[in-house]
Amino acid sequence: MNIETVCPAGAPEPVTFAACELRAYLTRMLGEVPGDLTVRLEVRPDGGHSRTDWFSIELDGAGGAIVGNSARAVLLGAYECLRRLGCRFLAPGKAYEVVPHITREMLKVSCEHQASFRHRGVCIEGADSREDVLAFIDWLPKLGYNSFFLQFKTPYIFYARWYGHRGDPFREPEPFSPEDALAWMKEAEREMERRGSLLHKVGHGWTGEVLGFEAQSWDAAPRPLAEAERPMAAQVGGVRGLHEGVPANTNLCFHNGDAVDAFAALVVDYARKEPDVDYLHVWLADAYNNMCECEGCRVTTPSDQYVELLNEIDRRLTAEGLDTKVVFLLYQELLWPPAQARLERPERFVLMFAPISRTFERSYDVEEKLPDIPPYERNHIVLPTSLPENLAFLRGWQELFHGDSFVYDYPLGRAHYGDLGYVKLARVISGDVKRLDAMGLDGYMSCQELRAGLPNFFPNYVMGRTLLDRSVDMNELLGEYFSAAYGKDWPLVADYLSRLSSLSSTDYVNGKGERKDADMAARMEAVRELCVDFAPTLDAHRGAKGWDTPFWEVLDYHRHYVLKLSRALCRLAEGDEARAWERWKEFRRTVCEKGPDLRAWLDEYRVLEVTEKYTGFRGGAGA
Ligand SMILES: [Zn+2]
Repeated sequence: MNIETVCPAGAPEPVTFAACELRAYLTRMLGEVPGDLTVRLEVRPDGGHSRTDWFSIELDGAGGAIVGNSARAVLLGAYECLRRLGCRFLAPGKAYEVVPHITREMLKVSCEHQASFRHRGVCIEGADSREDVLAFIDWLPKLGYNSFFLQFKTPYIFYARWYGHRGDPFREPEPFSPEDALAWMKEAEREMERRGSLLHKVGHGWTGEVLGFEAQSWDAAPRPLAEAERPMAAQVGGVRGLHEGVPANTNLCFHNGDAVDAFAALVVDYARKEPDVDYLHVWLADAYNNMCECEGCRVTTPSDQYVELLNEIDRRLTAEGLDTKVVFLLYQELLWPPAQARLERPERFVLMFAPISRTFERSYDVEEKLPDIPPYERNHIVLPTSLPENLAFLRGWQELFHGDSFVYDYPLGRAHYGDLGYVKLARVISGDVKRLDAMGLDGYMSCQELRAGLPNFFPNYVMGRTLLDRSVDMNELLGEYFSAAYGKDWPLVADYLSRLSSLSSTDYVNGKGERKDADMAARMEAVRELCVDFAPTLDAHRGAKGWDTPFWEVLDYHRHYVLKLSRALCRLAEGDEARAWERWKEFRRTVCEKGPDLRAWLDEYRVLEVTEKYTGFRGGAGA
């Protein structure tokens, strides 16, 4: 079929990009069908829909139109149109898309949709190659996401982990420099611009920069703290210095006006130089119980000092005529609402609630009665684990701040390694997203590994689709995803992965609860039996020419991976630390020696870091 896509003259780039994409996919889908088809794409600023992305699609065999309230929304509409015609975007990368052949009669889409939430994004974590980042940016709008967060001023550390093969004893580092990171960041931002995606930047790192260290990683400082800067560092245990040698984890003494002045100047300077940043994150250190103990700081709270700092930043941005949106963080000490200070101009700010220590065994329950917030005790805080405790802190802040807000959550950063089937975690994500309204939050930013795809990318899929449309049913998504990934035997896969999931514990793998746990040992033994029983089903999908789909090949590797990990977990839960460590080293070999086809699915750096640092696999002397 001869397909034409038409945009108004001078249409913004995401609209022309949407036109190219739509034309390319429809041409593949309708290839041999005779005749012509014309689809119009345009931006129509809407009446009353502007809080979130909105689009309408009218298309049949005679042609049609895709309209959105922004250029980005037109692209989201184009991808939604393709999904409704049967395309499935199952993982980052074009190799994992399902694009069906259709007839002219099947060209029938008529819908209008307003995104359920304003903020729908992912924040980069883990170890990432240049290609991983680009594939992910391409994938996001196909699922309905509208934002991406490149942490720090340059996301150097995420590339450095990948090219340095950190944590992998079997591979040598590859050549890589900070200049590469900078060039690739610019390339990534350019790809986001083409798609109209909202750009979030920075976050942690400001405190280190005030002390004279570049803000691009959690690595140890390459040199000692200069004496001139020392008075601005927090005084902890009578000493002012770097927290465990790491600038990004070091807090400041905000009683010292120089620290406030330097911090605000850095933020304003950055905002001036980077006008394309849509949301600028201004956070403190990424460690807790290292707040300044000087007499001046002790008479107030970290949150009061934080709010005063934010007000100072706002005054300076306003004086410069900059309307940069500043995201502030409820996290660790800053979960405690300020006692006195209030944000003077709430419209400048977006509240971001980051319940990093929460459990992922179940979704938020907003019906529960919330406990009282415990009194703040400087440098003796205990992070809240339960969901009601976490929500109590959010409620405390919401009584003081009524502006824009979203959650920064972590199911696919750390927690997912504890769910061996990913189905239960996907249900938790679905449940959490559906409760955002009741929690008074207008969206979700997922702090996560980009390669969170073992056994599949279903959790990320559920997150994006549900953020776009909160009414979508989790079981419907399960059928949509699994049938496209695994073909007619998908119910067998869904059953197997659901059972693996229900035997798993995200809490245990993330270090919550006693390490010696007889129930956990029994569950890991049952996991092993499930994996053994599933082998014939896998074999049936391995033909002479290879696997039925790439998803079956990944599932085969996943089975080996789960066998190794569950054996190590079983020994740990039995209390046999020495043998657990030996098993973990076998698991590490399976993770590091996986083939190049599998590297897009599993972040080897991160799973090894999490299982070593949090789960508790430890070697003795000489290990
Ligand atoms: Zn102080």
